Amino acid sequence: MHIENTKNKYSDQAASLLHQMRLDEKISMLSGDALFAMSGNERLGLPSYPTSDGPHGVKLITFGEKTIRGNVTCFPTATALANSFNRTLVQDMGALLADEAQKEGTGVCLAPAVNIKRHPLCGRNFEYYSEDPYVAAELGAAAVNGIQSGGVPACVKHFAVNNQEYRRQTVNAVVDERTMREIYLRVFENIVRQAAPVTMMCSYNKVNGTFMSENTALLTKILRDEWGYQGMVMSDWGAVHDRIQGVRAGLDLEMPGGMHLYDEALKEAVENGELTEEDIDTCVSRIIECILFIKENKKPKGEIDHRTHHELAVKMAEECMVLLKNDEFVIDIDGMISRRKVLPLEKNADICVIGDLADKFIYQGGGSSKVLNMSADMPLECLAEYAHGGHITYVRGYDSTNEAVNEQILKEAVETAGQHHGPLIVFMGLGYGAESEEYDRENMLLPENQTALLRELRKVNDQIIVVLIGGSPVDMAWDRYCDAVLYASLAGEGAGKALSEILFGDVCPSGKLAETFPLCLENTPAFLHYPGKNNEAVYAEGLYVGYRYYDKKRIPIKYSFGYGLSYTQFAYGNLNVSPKEIKETDTVTVSCDVTNIGTVAGKEIVQLYISDPVSTVDKPVKELKGFEKIELMPGETGTVQFILSRDAFSYYEERIQDWYVESGEYRIMIGTSVNDIQVEESIYIQANSFIPDKYTRKTLIGELKSDPPAYQYVQNIIKNMPAALLPGYDHPIGPMGMNKYRQRDSMEIGALATGSGSNKPYLSEEQVSELLNRINSCTLDPRS
Ligand code: BGC
Repeated sequence: MHIENTKNKYSDQAASLLHQMRLDEKISMLSGDALFAMSGNERLGLPSYPTSDGPHGVKLITFGEKTIRGNVTCFPTATALANSFNRTLVQDMGALLADEAQKEGTGVCLAPAVNIKRHPLCGRNFEYYSEDPYVAAELGAAAVNGIQSGGVPACVKHFAVNNQEYRRQTVNAVVDERTMREIYLRVFENIVRQAAPVTMMCSYNKVNGTFMSENTALLTKILRDEWGYQGMVMSDWGAVHDRIQGVRAGLDLEMPGGMHLYDEALKEAVENGELTEEDIDTCVSRIIECILFIKENKKPKGEIDHRTHHELAVKMAEECMVLLKNDEFVIDIDGMISRRKVLPLEKNADICVIGDLADKFIYQGGGSSKVLNMSADMPLECLAEYAHGGHITYVRGYDSTNEAVNEQILKEAVETAGQHHGPLIVFMGLGYGAESEEYDRENMLLPENQTALLRELRKVNDQIIVVLIGGSPVDMAWDRYCDAVLYASLAGEGAGKALSEILFGDVCPSGKLAETFPLCLENTPAFLHYPGKNNEAVYAEGLYVGYRYYDKKRIPIKYSFGYGLSYTQFAYGNLNVSPKEIKETDTVTVSCDVTNIGTVAGKEIVQLYISDPVSTVDKPVKELKGFEKIELMPGETGTVQFILSRDAFSYYEERIQDWYVESGEYRIMIGTSVNDIQVEESIYIQANSFIPDKYTRKTLIGELKSDPPAYQYVQNIIKNMPAALLPGYDHPIGPMGMNKYRQRDSMEIGALATGSGSNKPYLSEEQVSELLNRINSCTLDPRS
């Protein structure tokens, strides 16, 4: 079922119910009924439906009572899912969430969480998809479509600019308009437009000085008026400060419920004219529409088919893991030297598994998202199963609850490893409670007792495979002490089995990183501005989040965005871009052949980036605008196709407060990661409009260089400027030691009428105005 437009479907019925309600009844619906339940109206047949947390499983509703474990499934966390770059997989997971929600009697799934990973230390990054808005939006929309296909409203959270847990309830995110539109809001915008979520959750924080729960600009002007959102907005739990302003701003439902803290104040506000009854009606009608949606699509409670859901969770986890490193090692059989990759492991090999985290395995993070599932696949048991007769030895190596080196535990592990002939699998990662809602991590390092262990193990073994667990990048300077790294992420209850299948080659790894792994914390984009001071987080890095930053500043990274190895190889070729010249309203079709040139079947994530080599505004070097995952047998060639529209080429132009496409040449780049472009081609785009008064008296002549017709026009006018104005006119370097061309480029256009370094203006005010008119209207086609 695809729900196009809830407003159209339920608005008449909601209006008629609203009409039958008294003011106090309406007001009581503006806040929830219980910790996790919305308020209904029994008299009018509107049930009070529960909501339950996601994003990677249905959190059972406990209403503050003791913890209940249930038959629910813990699917891979968003950070892991994003590494699959697989929309279908995420959509399928959404449908399973809806199925479990229906069986548990849940009304709304509080999922997906789609905030941008601005900083690697954000405690909640494991709940989010990516540093890139395109990936986060594509997968977020897939999740919404999946959840809503099962008749359960999704709740897209946390709207908006909620990118750190440190002081999350009050921090003021200060971010410029273009950055907000292109990075932080873009995710929400695309999800609203593509998937029409029935509900959204506003975040705790302030944006540019105003709490999100009171933010008319974002909750109404942008979300509803611009993007056409027709669903309901609820608050994050406890995010409301001024409920009256919240109603005005477009915050429909206050959560958690059960307190009705503001009922009296809202009633008084209507009586004294601070609010109109219409203001209340607007919010209540959206709540009723949501309830009607739930009611109409409600299915009977029942038993979850846990076995099937668990198997699907394993299938998903298989696609979420990323092989980061796989070196060769030397095999010496009776003096016959050969080389082979460390992974996949040979069946029947005797394996030594080391690390407390292999036993106390972590596959999700902490906080409201924590799924209370009954069971999970544990690596030690699964590895034994997949070793097919090979012997598994396990030794603890470190204590995952205490970061300090315990000499006794370490010694025991090194001794066991020293006696073992064959590969070591070392489980490393962030411990329990390291990644969670409500607080950020303190650094990017793994616990010292783990890195010390790895160093010691290297002295006794040359086939070391690290399984890295965690939902965010860590400083990986330690990887020189190992030969292979499988990043298992936090891939849900099926992760133990999935990683065993990959290590033994039953599954070919196919995940790629949806977030850059930097070399160290100091190299990260927001390092100097995070977590902010005086309760203010200034997003001074602007657009340059994640790979956009490393790419622009050419900062070396550990593993790039989009990177991941496979047990096979792929060759790219035959790029076709058609047509090669378009109007901005046209679409362009891009196709590219990919061939599996290795010996095993595998899946490749093909990424399309767009670069604008000459632009009048500052832009990232390239930006992801398409990805496809393709499965190929050995020797097989497949064709991947992308259709690009205006969206892929536009940037947010603050001067016109709208998306804008500049005329000119763009590069279409297809690669295996952001740092490995395989094939590229140019396309020319003809814009449909130009920015009025783009150039002003303050524009530097040199700034026109990226707009060749405008620059040429001005050059023609100033070419005869007298020597007095430009000293040393006959020679590039004048008597004052200045380069006249650079001096000319550094001049503001207005200075042509006021004189600069001379007592005689070159143009009159009228001539400067005429010049500006001309260059402001000759920018449509740089080739003209
Ligand atoms: C979280 C939300 C969650 C809500 C209800 C809040 O603290 O930020 O993501 O849905 O609690 O548990």
